[in-house]
Amino acid sequence: MENERVALMSSIEAVVKRGRAVVSADNSIIIAMVQEALKAGRMETTFYVSPEEGTAVMQWYLTPRRIKEMEVEVVSKEELAKIKSELGVNVPGALSSRSQCANAHVYGLFEFVQQGIREHGTDYVRATMELKNTAVLRINPIQALICPICNERLMTIIEYYECRRDDGKLLYGCCRGEIPEPILT
Ligand SMILES: [Zn+2]
Repeated sequence: MENERVALMSSIEAVVKRGRAVVSADNSIIIAMVQEALKAGRMETTFYVSPEEGTAVMQWYLTPRRIKEMEVEVVSKEELAKIKSELGVNVPGALSSRSQCANAHVYGLFEFVQQGIREHGTDYVRATMELKNTAVLRINPIQALICPICNERLMTIIEYYECRRDDGKLLYGCCRGEIPEPILT
């Protein structure tokens, strides 16, 4: 037990040293913080929470109105199989929005995982998707989605990706708060 606590402190110190904060709080506080981050709009915030908390937040977030506005769909078994065979990343279940570039190429979960690998490496993406006791919640991502076919930046602000574990609990969620004004570039 003591060793575990010492290991925990050194992990916390490693995170704080990188300029990030670690917060330990009751579920209700964490959920309130996530809701606050969503309201704040453009500030990117990542939460590492328990799969149960992550699931609760996404359930709260994904209202029928948002599903309709963001055109969130269940990712097909075929797309998940393609993510596994071509990208080597195992995603048991997922929901996602599907955007299009100016040339009408579809950008869905496959392209999102592929871009993640291009920007952060396969090991990092795999390590995230293999987390056992942690769900990653990315709120208001600032990263631009790039079409892999024509290399165009997608002029969309609609982004919703949700990956689930074998047991149906959240593994990774990426979403935005109230849909802001289009970003001028
Ligand atoms: Zn394109």
